[in-house]
Amino acid sequence: MSTRMSTRVITQLVRATEVTEGAGVIVHRTIGTPPRRHLDPFLMLDHFSSDDPGDYIAGFPDHPHRGFITLTYMLDGHMRHRDSMGNEGDLRTGGAQWMKAASGIIHSEMPQQSNGLMRGFQLWVNLPGAQKMSDPAYQEVAPETIPVVGAEGVQVRVLAGGYADQRGPVQDPNTDVHFLDVALQPRAHIAHTLAPDVAAFLYPFEGALSIAEEAVPQHHLAVLAPGRDLAIHAGAEGTRFLLVSGRPLGEPIVQYGPFVMNTREDVEQAMEDYRNQRLVRSRAEVVEK
Ligand code: FE
Repeated sequence: MSTRMSTRVITQLVRATEVTEGAGVIVHRTIGTPPRRHLDPFLMLDHFSSDDPGDYIAGFPDHPHRGFITLTYMLDGHMRHRDSMGNEGDLRTGGAQWMKAASGIIHSEMPQQSNGLMRGFQLWVNLPGAQKMSDPAYQEVAPETIPVVGAEGVQVRVLAGGYADQRGPVQDPNTDVHFLDVALQPRAHIAHTLAPDVAAFLYPFEGALSIAEEAVPQHHLAVLAPGRDLAIHAGAEGTRFLLVSGRPLGEPIVQYGPFVMNTREDVEQAMEDYRNQRLVRSRAEVVEK
């Protein structure tokens, strides 16, 4: 077999689309837009980045989720999470929150700053059908619990899954999500190995990079073809990007806004439960790490 066959190449480049979310927050969406509805097991990737409070100050007042997980990673800024059952949490610069909405959560995500830079990501990870109606849970990730792996010209923050000999604070048993925040100095490169059949993408949010001689501009999602080996080269200005992978669930995805189930009936049930104030069944468990 040629080495080419086991090398990951780009199958699709998705340019971020500006979307207004919550009470008027501008986000840059890639997964979850018409050119890329899903990337099983990932349902949505939003990038928020602004130093104009008008873009974020309205926040995300009370809204529901059912059937999946949200992973929020704060690069800069401060947000407070509050759910309908009285749980509260802080998202600060460099920290994260892993929230398994499962059978249902109603929560708010509100900025705790009235000026300055607010920057980060929210990734939606699907749950298998058998887990969709399980009890909700969430895990706060303090910045100092995220391992940083350094090599020459390379710095990798391991939020979920593993990298080199480090394991991140978040471990997802269903889809084995690996979520890495990688910084490369100008012209530096990194070689990485992935399980050949996992879904994987990159998203440069500072600078630009290339994979197998193909350029990935800033704020573009590069979907990777199956394969094992991945080589990423930074451009002249260096780069910082997300490298994320996960095992596809291979189940039907029926989505209506914040409800993601396997069938139309189950989505209709979610809407009915929300209307009748039966979406939230149990208090979310806070996982201490
Ligand atoms: Fe939310």
